[in-house]
Amino acid sequence: MLFRQLFDQDTSTYSYLLADEASREAVIVDPVLEQLDRDATLIDELGLKLVAALDTHVHADHVTALGALKRRFGAHTVMSERGGAVCADRLVKQGDRIRFGRHELEVRETPGHTNGCLTYVCREAGMAFTGDAILIRGSGRTDFQQGSSRSLYGSVREQIFSLPDDTLLYPGHDYKGRTVTTVGEEKRLNPRLGLQKSVEDFERTMNELRLPHPRRMDLAVPANLACGVDRHEPPALPSLDTSWAPIVSTPAGVPELTADWLVVHASEVVVLDVREPDEFRGELGHIAGSELAPLQTLDARAAALSKQRPVVAVCRSGGRSGKAALTLQRLGFARVASLAGGMLDWNARGLPVELGGTKATVVGRQG
Ligand code: FE
Repeated sequence: MLFRQLFDQDTSTYSYLLADEASREAVIVDPVLEQLDRDATLIDELGLKLVAALDTHVHADHVTALGALKRRFGAHTVMSERGGAVCADRLVKQGDRIRFGRHELEVRETPGHTNGCLTYVCREAGMAFTGDAILIRGSGRTDFQQGSSRSLYGSVREQIFSLPDDTLLYPGHDYKGRTVTTVGEEKRLNPRLGLQKSVEDFERTMNELRLPHPRRMDLAVPANLACGVDRHEPPALPSLDTSWAPIVSTPAGVPELTADWLVVHASEVVVLDVREPDEFRGELGHIAGSELAPLQTLDARAAALSKQRPVVAVCRSGGRSGKAALTLQRLGFARVASLAGGMLDWNARGLPVELGGTKATVVGRQG
């Protein structure tokens, strides 16, 4: 496997290029917009075919090159379905795989620095790209973007320290010139997250940091929610009718409504569940009366739907359904929304679900 570690000096950000030497298929992790020309030149020089551009999370300190690399190479953009960046071609979750030639990266959800943080693991090469979950002898901060010290501690213990001790960990940043560490090394030596530290120790350390916000945060976060592409460029979407429900627009422009509203009004709307069939039948269940319409079948399904009846898209966490809501809006549906937080939030609130079955039956809730 071909592997290159690239560095952006200005923001101390690492990007990683991985490629299958036979097929020349490549992926890049956490590309930085300012380094687009450098990275594109390298990809061309090495004769690679960039199939995917991945972010570990919605960065606050630099603008991603995901959208730009998609334009330049036709690469699929990949982000967490929990990070709110519905611009990505593929919104991934725990256990998903990203293939390039004979190789693949496994997706592990490692929230805590942000709620949508991912670690990409290349098992065969014994490498993991941890973004800002764990850094060399440090960790990402947990004081903004839905950060949580408790959740980061759990992510590192369960998803990163569960890898073999000799797994190489490649972080999203390093500010001291270090390039790589291992699981075993961090278990022993990480002053914040090492095995000797309790979750209470970690929470205390993080609470005491009091860091200033990154200087580019106000620019970077909205830009990254749009995959780093100039937000003026996409064609304007047809306007929305928000009179039928208390709809709130997310920073990425997704119309959302809450589970508490939907549980009362489900019978008045079309509930489209855009997850995969095994998820629809899986442990989170589905909403009574909802219809299974996996995201990739949405265009075809939309053609048969009335534009008069409001449509609410539902998925696991609100990422794919946000993408579905924007797709429907683009197709001319004015009364459309995504269920905020998806079935994870629905279940967390203890709301009723149906289990099993490929087609939910209409229960006809009336409030
Ligand atoms: Fe970060």
